[in-house]
Formats: sequence, structure tokens, C-alpha cells
Amino acid sequence: MKFVDEYRNADLAQKYVQEITEVITKPWTIMEICGGQTHSIVKYGIDRLLPSEITLIHGPGCPVCVTPIELIDCALKIASISNVIFCSFGDMLRVPGSEKDLLTIKASGGDVRIVYSPLDSLKIAQENPDKEVVFFAVGFETTTPGTAMAVYQAKQQGIKNFSLLVSHVLVPPAMSALLSSPNCVVQGFLAAGHVCTVMGYEAYKPIAQKYKVPIVVTGFEPIDVLQGIYHCIQQLETGKYDCKNQYVRSVKSQGNALAQQLIQEVFEVVPRRWRGIGEIGESGLGLRPEYALYDALKRFESPLSSLTPSTAPQVCISGEIMQGYKKPNDCPAFGTQCTPENPLGAPMVSSEGPCAAYYRYRSHQQPVLRRGDGETGRRGDGETGRRGDGETGRLGDWGAEY
Ligand code: SF4
Repeated sequence: MKFVDEYRNADLAQKYVQEITEVITKPWTIMEICGGQTHSIVKYGIDRLLPSEITLIHGPGCPVCVTPIELIDCALKIASISNVIFCSFGDMLRVPGSEKDLLTIKASGGDVRIVYSPLDSLKIAQENPDKEVVFFAVGFETTTPGTAMAVYQAKQQGIKNFSLLVSHVLVPPAMSALLSSPNCVVQGFLAAGHVCTVMGYEAYKPIAQKYKVPIVVTGFEPIDVLQGIYHCIQQLETGKYDCKNQYVRSVKSQGNALAQQLIQEVFEVVPRRWRGIGEIGESGLGLRPEYALYDALKRFESPLSSLTPSTAPQVCISGEIMQGYKKPNDCPAFGTQCTPENPLGAPMVSSEGPCAAYYRYRSHQQPVLRRGDGETGRRGDGETGRRGDGETGRLGDWGAEY
């Protein structure tokens, strides 16, 4: 398949590992921002293929994981109201609030529906004029244009029984917050390719310069991730700190202007709480006053006022994992008290959650992207495509932009 198979080629992966091995001279810690990249790294055993000098840590790029528990409790309360149809992406249904989750509300008779697009929930609102339809708008800049389109269309068409419970978040302020921490361990970032497809990567350049960290806009397939790591290591080893674009087949420096326009029309930048991390200034999007009619927090202000303060399980260390201080298997509850069937935290539920990735894939004892029988293709085998082999597909052949 074009743009998939060639990015999962094991021999090519081994060549890139070899290239990385040749340029690295000291230990470096790199954080991949996006949960999709985390799953790719763990699934394909990329962290186990790399030289031991490289430590990969997993960032706060799983939108479900960072949605604050207070907002989940608001979702649960709204979804319990009798004339409400509560629409959400499927990942959110098993995320635990203080006491239960959306699936429990659905099982006890609440009208909770999984949708694949915010526009699906707008259609449900049109078809059910006697009901209040609420869409749980969770996600980074990648999903925001879809939400913006739904509420824009609702306003244009005068649909009044539709509202949004908004938890949209922004990547660059979260990166700045991590780098500002005195405990920061991040030395380089793999930025999320899909976010940059929408927003471009100009906003990352001042961050790279200010904090002296390379940022490489990276895709999600194994070869993408290896190329991203290579470009990161190359900058670290040569003392350069810039934003580079590995994901050139999708990302342009300015992003998607139309999508950005739509986001601007509907949303404004607000402070936002991140689950396990706390409040980060200017890191969220909220509806502009012109769209306040569509804000579920305002529409359901009265029932929400009776909510008691939210409580998360003490044992969950998701905040420390998403800041790179710990790994999922450092959590005492990992795989025992906390499993995908009985999750204590969102990272064990979400398809982008780091705990779910470790639980699902960490039984592999060998790298998945290995050569055929008898050839592990590990570092030092002496047969993995070195520079000058004259073969195609070397790092750099795929191009990258500054
Ligand atoms: S294993 Fe469960 S309890 Fe531990 S950090 Fe992950 S989600 Fe939280």
C-alpha cells in the first residue's frame, strides 16, 4: 500500500538504526509528543532497536488522557439528564471519572452514542429536535477543525438543540510548560505530524530556539519515527536547535490556512487544566462569546452546580508518565489493579494511551522490525546498510525541511 508498506520495511528500519548508531556519541532523552507515535514505538519495538544511549519518553499527546477529570464528571452528569443525547468518540466511553464512566451511564439507560465525526452529532440534533444533543469535543489541533465546522454549521442553520462540552488543547504551550519545569528531562522532541498538518510548524521554531531543544515534526509509521529520531540526534550531536520537518508528505510550514481560519472563527485561546499535570496557561480552546449559546457548560450550568469536587485514584501516575519522569510499567497498579478491562486512568483505556500501549505490546521480547530467520539485524551485526552502501532509502533520501 502506498505510503504505508514502505514505512514499515524492516530492512530499511535496520539501516536507519545503523545510521543513528553511527552519529550518536552520548546519552540523549527524546520525547515523542503524540500517543500515536508512542503506540508505533512500542508496537514495533523501536525503543529496543535503538542504541542504548537513546531514551524515549512518552509525552502528553493523548487527548483522552489529558482531559481533566472535572470535565469527565461534567460529561457524566450531562449524559445522565433524561432529554440529553450525549455524543462522543468511542475512546472516551471507558475513561473513569470520579465514580463511573460514560459506558456505565449508557448501561443504566443514558442515551450515550459513539460518533465518528462532530458533524454526525449535528445530524443527530437535526433529527431529534425535542432532545438536547451534546458533543464531547476532545482533542488537539487535529480534531478541532471538525468541531469548529459542526458548531459553525449549527449557527448558520439556526440549530439550537446542539452544544459542545469543549476540552480542546494545544500542543506548543504544553511543550513550553514541560521545558520550563526545573525537573525537565526532555532534550529533544518529536512533534506530532497530524497536528502540524493543520497548524504548520512555525510556532515550534521559537520554542526550539528559546529552550535549545531540537524539534522534529514526525509522522507515525516506524520509518517516520526512526527518521525523526535521527534528525533529532543529528542536531543534538552538532549543537543545533531548530525545528525540522520529517513528515514532508503531509506537513507544510504554514499548515492548512482554511482549517486555521475556521478554528479562529469559532474558538479563542483559554487556560486549560491537563489531567495529571495541572493548569497550563493559554493551552486550550474555548468557544468565542459569539458561540456561547453552544457551550454545554453554560447550557447545563444549573445541574452541573451540584457536582461534588472530583477525585482521581491516588495510585495513578499518569501525570508523571506524560511529563517523561516515569514509564507505564513503573506504576504499581500497571497490569494488576489497572488493566484495559478495569482501567484506573485514561492512559490504560485510550487507543493512544501509553499504558495501553505497554500493556498490549510489551510482551514482545524481541524487536518486531527484525530481519528474517537468523538475522536479527541488531546494531553491530556488520551487515546493516551503512553509509556509502550505495543502496537507496538512506536517511535523508526521503527529504526533510527546515
Ligand atoms: S497503569 Fe493505570 S493507574 Fe497506572 S498510570 Fe497507567 S492508567 Fe494510571
